[in-house]
Amino acid sequence: MEDTQQTVRVRLCQTFGDRVRERVALAALTTFRTGGPADWMLETSDPNDLVAAVRATRALGLPLTVMGGGSNVLVGDGGVRGLVLRMRHGAVSLVGSSGVRADGGVTLNGLVRWTIRRGLAGLERWAGTPGTVGGAVHGNAHFDSRVLGDMVTSVGLVDRTGTVSCVPRAEMGFGYDASRVQHTGELVLWAEFRVAPGEVGALRAGARRSLAFRKRTQPLDRASAGCVFQNPRPEDGPLPEDVPRSAGALIDRVGMKGRRVGGAVVSAVHGNFIVNEGGATASDVRGLIELCRAAVSQRFGITLREELIYVGEF
Ligand SMILES: Cc1cc2nc3c(=O)[nH]c(=O)nc-3n(C[C@H](O)[C@H](O)[C@H](O)COP(=O)(O)OP(=O)(O)OC[C@H]3O[C@@H](n4cnc5c(N)ncnc54)[C@H](O)[C@@H]3O)c2cc1C
Repeated sequence: MEDTQQTVRVRLCQTFGDRVRERVALAALTTFRTGGPADWMLETSDPNDLVAAVRATRALGLPLTVMGGGSNVLVGDGGVRGLVLRMRHGAVSLVGSSGVRADGGVTLNGLVRWTIRRGLAGLERWAGTPGTVGGAVHGNAHFDSRVLGDMVTSVGLVDRTGTVSCVPRAEMGFGYDASRVQHTGELVLWAEFRVAPGEVGALRAGARRSLAFRKRTQPLDRASAGCVFQNPRPEDGPLPEDVPRSAGALIDRVGMKGRRVGGAVVSAVHGNFIVNEGGATASDVRGLIELCRAAVSQRFGITLREELIYVGEF
């Protein structure tokens, strides 16, 4: 066991030097502020490190987990085995006159600001979405009935064998909360987005509208991972006419707002947000998720599915 650990240490240090750290607490690196440590952790802005990490961990038989802003994950209390690669920052550049390319670790907010400053329209409604380009492509980040995938033209991916490819939008399998990388395990190196000329003042106003809507409807002063559940689809079953097809509305209707398990509470502001009121464990959050799911299922016959992603050991 100690031998294996030493081999892993040596090999990871050969590849990444002293940038690799051992047993790193993850709670502070997620917006939920819960969960245990990563066995190994590398923070990088360089997409090439992602390719190197895939190859090194594959050679070692070590699990590899990629994180961006940690804003859509619940990390288990037992932590994450293997290497956690945290993508932070990166480059943004113009591609011709109507495209922008951003590395996977660029924050979505940073990208929105970058485009607005240059009078490039198309991404401003995603202002205020926490997390990175990589995480947003993975989950096809949505806002105001629009999905980010509609703005994507191509994505640079690395598969789990270390092979890099450039994939056009039509092959990305974008859907509601869905993209092909959720099934293939491919990792996002960069993404290119379609933009159009716009007036800076109008773009700023558009971004401010998104931010104001969030402020009004979301508990932004509390630790959370955004919406816990996906909204139910028509094929999930019928709902009474006066009940909106919204997970938050269903949770509200079954009286779960304010319900608590340990330090985790269903937000009084938005029924689809669970907030960490302080000291919540991942198992508190998970317990509360199951209570919400059971209550909605019992009353409406609809089984809610998580939008949130579970990472590591619970
Ligand atoms: C207050 C709040 C509001 C939110 N509002 C919205 C909203 O309006 N719309 C919305 O869609 N979401 C929203 N979210 C959820 C979250 O911000 C998005 O899902 C975001 O895109 C996640 O990005 P991330 O970098 O934080 O991903 P992480 O949470 O770090 O990871 C999420 C998943 O993406 C994978 N991933 C991360 N980077 C990569 C990569 N480079 N390649 C491949 N896979 C990768 C991870 O492995 C994980 O499976 C909100 C969250 C919060 C806390």
